[in-house]
Amino acid sequence: MANQRLPIAGTFQLAGRAKAHPAIARINDNGSVQITAAEDQRSLHYSNADDMRYGDIIPGLPAELIFADGARFIPHDTAYRWPGLSSAQRLPAWLEAHWLTVLAAIILVPGFIWVMVYKVIPAAAGASVQYLPDVVATELGEQTLDLLDRFYMEPTQISDAQQEKIIADWQAILQQLELPRDKFRLYFRDSSIGANALALPDGSVILTDDIVGLMQDHPEQLNAVLLHEIGHVEYKHSLKMLAQATATTMMFAMMFGDIEGAGEMILGVGSSLLQSAFSRDMEREADAFAYTQLDKIGHSPHDFANAMRALMKSHGVSEEQLQRHKSEQGEDHSRDLLEYLNSHPDTLERIKAAEEWQPAAK
Ligand SMILES: [Zn+2]
Repeated sequence: MANQRLPIAGTFQLAGRAKAHPAIARINDNGSVQITAAEDQRSLHYSNADDMRYGDIIPGLPAELIFADGARFIPHDTAYRWPGLSSAQRLPAWLEAHWLTVLAAIILVPGFIWVMVYKVIPAAAGASVQYLPDVVATELGEQTLDLLDRFYMEPTQISDAQQEKIIADWQAILQQLELPRDKFRLYFRDSSIGANALALPDGSVILTDDIVGLMQDHPEQLNAVLLHEIGHVEYKHSLKMLAQATATTMMFAMMFGDIEGAGEMILGVGSSLLQSAFSRDMEREADAFAYTQLDKIGHSPHDFANAMRALMKSHGVSEEQLQRHKSEQGEDHSRDLLEYLNSHPDTLERIKAAEEWQPAAK
């Protein structure tokens, strides 16, 4: 460490004497200290590293070097700290000298993290996904479908005739709405996740056999659900979540210095996308998209409300249970119900909103 060898200017005081000599301290590689007179380089004192100690560190006062015989060297620079000082000796002094900084950090760091995670990153992610080339969405969509097929989905049991009918219905709606027919492809899969539909970033929509069965007598409900799903695609919700998750992971990695771990976490983000729910705002945005499109094709958002009701029931939740859950605490609920409520926090509000929706005045 080169700076250890710089001469330190200060005053040297012999034990029990008031007179102080302007002096220079030099620290040698082995930790020993040589004190010479500032004026004529005359040697005043020499001490091995073991035969000296450091005075108490008091902010604003110089750090004294005290020799075995009681002589001391006092640096001119009150901020100077001897290289031999342990960090434990330095820390209290540093804290005292920088208490305002410490206090600010205690308050500001969580504030900074909060603002970054909930404000800056979502806004930046929202803005940045507009510039992502389509190939990213295509690639992500294909990878996710592949992942789903390997771990969550089985081949469909739905008959070809029924699939063709659903696809034809859906294609007719897309054409009516002037939406790209080749983009919003339907995929049929059997899955233990129950009645569900999910849209992938590239526009592919997966329908589980359970939702097809649930809504086979109500194609208008299935189409309402599909319009909600492609609302997520049109607003690039999954890409936004992916961008947010990646940026948040990067930020924590940079703050805590674990870049390698971040790499692994980012690789895991794609699959976590499957488990994590969209935010409430995103659901409302997709709902509003569905209402508007339903209205355009001469249908009503009530189709969507009815679809939500049917889905809720298929997951073992009655409206009464849901109402009760909202209005009281502590009553026993089946595990299914709790799980369902956790992933669909405001189903009732959404049903109500669909039923009360009015087209914007033209
Ligand atoms: Zn949704």
